[in-house]
Parts: sequence; structure tokens; C-alpha cells
Amino acid sequence: MSAMKQEKSCEKISKRTKPATDFSKVGGLSNHIKILRDTIIVPLLHNNVYTHFNIKTPRGVLFYGPPGTGKTLVAGALATEMNKEGFGKVSFYQRKGADVLDKWVGESEKKLRALFETATKNRPSIIFFDELDGLAPIRSAKNDHVHCSIVTTLLALMDGLDSVAGVIVIGATNRIESVDPALRRPGRFDRELYFPLPSTEARKEILQVHMQTWRHKPANTFLSYLAALTTGFCGSDLQALCAEALLCAMKRQYPNIQKCPLGKVKIEASELRIDDNDFIDARKNLIPSSHKLGNRIRKLSPIIAPLLQHQLETILSRIKMLWPHFFMQFYKYLIGSERYIGRVVLVGSSLQGLTAHIVPAILQNLEHLPALFLDATIMQNKNILSNFCKNLPSVLVIPRVDDLWSFLEINEQMYITSLLEDIHAGLPILIVATYEEELPLMLQNFFYNNTSLVINIENPTETEVEDFFVPLFFGDSSNSLNSALLAHKRTPAKKACETLDSSSKNTRSSKYATSKVYKLKPSGKITKSRSNLAIKRPLKLAPNKDILSHSSSKRFDTELLGCGAESLCTLCGSTEKKKRLSLILTELLQRSIRYISRRKSPNERSSSHRNLALVREYEDSEDADKQKIFNLWRRTVLRTAKDMPLAHLEVLYDTISACISIHKDNFYSLIKSLEETLSEIEDDH
Ligand code: ADP
Repeated sequence: MSAMKQEKSCEKISKRTKPATDFSKVGGLSNHIKILRDTIIVPLLHNNVYTHFNIKTPRGVLFYGPPGTGKTLVAGALATEMNKEGFGKVSFYQRKGADVLDKWVGESEKKLRALFETATKNRPSIIFFDELDGLAPIRSAKNDHVHCSIVTTLLALMDGLDSVAGVIVIGATNRIESVDPALRRPGRFDRELYFPLPSTEARKEILQVHMQTWRHKPANTFLSYLAALTTGFCGSDLQALCAEALLCAMKRQYPNIQKCPLGKVKIEASELRIDDNDFIDARKNLIPSSHKLGNRIRKLSPIIAPLLQHQLETILSRIKMLWPHFFMQFYKYLIGSERYIGRVVLVGSSLQGLTAHIVPAILQNLEHLPALFLDATIMQNKNILSNFCKNLPSVLVIPRVDDLWSFLEINEQMYITSLLEDIHAGLPILIVATYEEELPLMLQNFFYNNTSLVINIENPTETEVEDFFVPLFFGDSSNSLNSALLAHKRTPAKKACETLDSSSKNTRSSKYATSKVYKLKPSGKITKSRSNLAIKRPLKLAPNKDILSHSSSKRFDTELLGCGAESLCTLCGSTEKKKRLSLILTELLQRSIRYISRRKSPNERSSSHRNLALVREYEDSEDADKQKIFNLWRRTVLRTAKDMPLAHLEVLYDTISACISIHKDNFYSLIKSLEETLSEIEDDH
């Protein structure tokens, strides 16, 4: 193809890719917009000033960050804004790696040259390379002649722009570590802009942008709630959420929409109203793209929150006290001159939910900062790590550092140690390391000889365990003892009597004292009014059956059991007693899982929530059944779950939940089965 033809095709494409968005269509990126105004628009508008002082204006900006965070959107909006600012018509040329690559040798380079020529001729102009990593990968790593030649051509063309004002090159990539480093030197892509996953506030702004033209917009408070509900959503996920909410609204208001043949249902767009519930339904239908890749930034789940919320708040408040700047979104750092670095060491085991719950929740509170997990996979591509440390401010997490250390070669250990030592106090990086047994010797110098916040993770307290089990016993979800009792009271009297006959012995024998040991504070929090619980009648425990010995008929489901039992045993320590407890808990759970998989939908449990008024009602009630539930709750907290780490509490929760699910149609057999289950655990605890 001749150069002229190529030029024409470029112009055609430039017309086709004419951007329609401006900065008002971009949400949550006000700081990025400000930087772009300062680095691109102002120098171009006042080029004479820069020429007078003999200062070169920036030639290129590199946008990088996760997909769907608005890189392409901002590049397009920049061109529109420049048209507004009085540059005359700004041409916008958008190319992806694949648009430029050609199967014929030398053709890709020709296309690139033609593109730069056209852009120079039609300046002011913006050349936007989407997916730059595909076009200009690291030359030595790729080692392929075609890419080497393209990168060299691109470098030469960008250098050639030095003498031409009015042409800006923007590159966008999701994998900055794969872009050839020569392109990132000054004079080429001078500025690098990180596009993070949006923070809660930014998500709210993006939602507002997508609803700009709606007649009926959700209330401000609901938007804040929705923003909090969409952790891990990028801009395009939020756009998809709005589209899904619209679909939900259409289905709600026009239920026949799917049944009727095309065009039969006429929808009046102006009458369609998207309700808050449509958004909630839409949220349930969507998985954010960051979660598909394995999400390591998330809130404490509502079930776990009672156990960890307090410790999480303590950790966050201490970090905030020492290094408040990490919590400020647009803090201006004078890098190198002040002490910015933060070092946190969290000591605890996986059984305590450190890596699974606490670290992701810490990151969720710092979601405006890019975060990197330094684990074994990162060691395969060290570029990711060295690039990340240029990404300031940021959070570097080294989870289970003692395990990681035993896995790494000595040279890799040295690499990490020296990398950490290179991060001097003037860099705003928050380093969060977690370990269970001992911090590796090489890292002790780094953490212990410097200002480090060392926090031990504790097992949940009694009050926390109480709160944790409240929904299961008194909550109003379908899977609680409270609901089972309500359903039982609605069943015909005859059936109830039969049931009572068959199970009254067991229930009576396990009746606890009804003395009022728990009092509810006006705030609704449960407190203990006496330190020790008096149990008036001794418990009749179930015969001390070894459930493992009679489990041959209910064969272990090894696949399901595998991870649970093994990890529990390893983490519990080696004592026979603890091992047995783990196995029993896991066996009980697995037994129930087989039933549940047939009977219960996975979402059902999540609807349970605390109902503290019911606790009081049960405590004060004259009703023997309500007393049974109250006493079982106390027994679970004070005897069965005493001194349990979080992971065991979760298994116990699931075991009780499974029991309820299996026996919820028969209240007395549910009570009996729960008593037996608790006895089995208590015996081995
Ligand atoms: P990227 O180039 O980072 O992969 P895009 O810019 O192509 O992502 O975003 C895809 C779509 O997501 C956009 O067209 C826009 O509708 C929406 N979007 C992403 N980020 C934002 C944002 N900050 N504000 C408004 N919409 C956004």
C-alpha cells in the first residue's frame, strides 16, 4: 500500500474514532484530569512561554492500570476538551496493537510512520495507542525481530516529535511491566498515570456520571450505599451494573417482556423507573471483573464481621495514627525529604483469619492506593515488583512471610531483602507483612530495626463470639433456630405432640439454668452481668461415641474433607486432642453438606442478620422452647466455642447451620441433634 493510501486510511479512521466524551463524562478521576490539564493542555495552549524559557513540553503520557478503569475514556475526553480550549480542531488517532501489526515485513513500521506523519500534518493532534504492551513489548524478552523493529521505529518517531509542538502520544496498558523500558525514558512517555480501581467515593461519582441524563435518579444516600456495595467494581463494571438494573426494571414493570414475540410489548421509556431494588437485584447478578481474577481486596463479610471488626478497627486506627497520609486520597508527597514509609507486621495464623479476612479488609480501607501481594508467583516476574515500587504511594503486602521464605531460593531471599532495604523512609509505601511463627532472620533487621507496628492477632473474645452466633439462634433468616421454632408453632398440634413425645426426654435432660446472666445494654449490646454461668442442672451429655469409628457407613467424602481436615490438623498443632477436634468438626460439617446440597440454596444463609431484641425476648420468655434456644446459644458460646480460633468458629457456625437446615422441619429433633452435636464437640474440646 502506498504512503498516500495509508495516509487516507488513517484520516478515515481518525474520523471514525472521533471522540464524543468530555471530562464531564468521566467520574472519580478528578486528580488525573487536573494532571492532564497541567501537563498537556496548559503547555500546548501556552507553547510560546515554554519556547521563551527553552523548556520542552511533554510529548507522551502513559496510562496504566486494571482494565475498565477509564484509560481509553480519558484519552478520548482529553481530545474533546482540547477542542473546547481553543486549539481549533484536535485530531484524535486511536490504534490498538493489532491495528498496526502487519503480516508483511516492514509494513507495520510503514503504518506507524504514516500515522505520525498524518498526526504531525493535522496538529494539534493526539495519537492514542491502546494496549501498548502488545505493540511494544520488552525487546529482549520477546526476542522477535518484528517487535524489535517496531519498538525501534516507535522510539525514533517519538524522538522526532521533539522538534514538533502539538502532537501528543498517549499509551495505555494493563501490563506496564511488559512495555519496553526504553519507551518510558524522559522525552518519550514523560508522565505515567496510574488508573486504580475506583474507591468508594469514586464509584459513587462514576454511578452519577452514568445516571446524568436519567429523569428519576436514585437518592444520594442510596448511591452512597450502592458505592459501598460495589467494592472491586471498575468503571465498566459500574456501567454494566446500570445496564443490568435497567433490565431488571423492565422485567419488573413488563413481566411479559421475555415471553412475547419481538415488538409485541411496547415499552414506554419515559415511564420506566429504575428502583433501588433493581440495583440490588442487578448487583446480585454481576461479578466484578477484579473478583474474577481472584479478589484480594474486600470488606469483612457480614457473618465474620462480629468476630474481627474490633481488631480490624484497632489495626487501622494505629496505622492511621502513625501514618495518616496513607488514608488521604490526594496527599501531596515531597518524596525523599520526609519520612513516609510505613511498616506493619501482623502476627497470627491463617486459622485466625489473618490472610483470608483481615488483610483484604485493610486493603479495602486503603482501596485508593494500588496494592501488590508479594508472593511466590511474583517471583516469576520480578519486573512486576520493581515496577510496582515506582508506583507511589502504594501498599506492598507480604503475606505469610515465614512460609514464603522457606519456599524461596537464597538468591530470591536476597533479592527481596535488598529490595526492601532499598525502599528508604522517604518513599510513601506501606509494607504489610504477616507471619505465624517467626519472622525470617534476614527480614528481622528490616522490620525490627526500624519503626514498625507489630500487632498480634488474638482469638475472638466471648462477646464477639456471642454476637457471631446471634443470627443463627435468634435471627429471622430462614436458617435459624428462631425460624424453626416459628415454623414449629405453625405446624398442626398433632404432629407437634408426636414429635414432643419422641424427643422430650432428650430436651428435658439438657435443660439449662434460666437465671438471667445476660443483660442487654440500651445500645442493644449483650453484656454479661455475672462472670460465671451457673448451670442448675447438670447436662446429660450424649454417649461419648467416637464418631470416627462409626463413620464407615457414612463414608468420608475425601474430596470435600481434604482441605478442611488437613489444614485444620496442621494448624492446630500436633496434639491428639486438637487433631480429633478438627476431624470431628470437619466430619460433622461434611455430613451436613451432603444434605444441604440437596435442600438449600447457597444464598439463603446470607439473609440472616442480628436480631438482638429477640435475644432479650428469648431470655425473658416463659416459653420452654424459647428458653431451650437461649440456653443452647449460651452453651455454644461459653462451652463449645470457648477459646476457638476464627476458622474453627466458622466450621462450628456451618455445622450448626447445617444441623438447622437438615432438621428445621422438626423442632425437637433439631434441638436434640444440636445438643448431641455440641456434646460431641465439647467432649473433644
Ligand atoms: P480501559 O481503557 O481502562 O480498559 P475504558 O476507558 O475503555 O477502560 O472504559 C470502558 C467503559 O467503562 C467506558 O466506556 C465507560 O463507559 C466506563 N468507565 C470506565 N471508567 C469510567 C469513569 N472513570 N467514569 C465513567 N465511566 C467509566
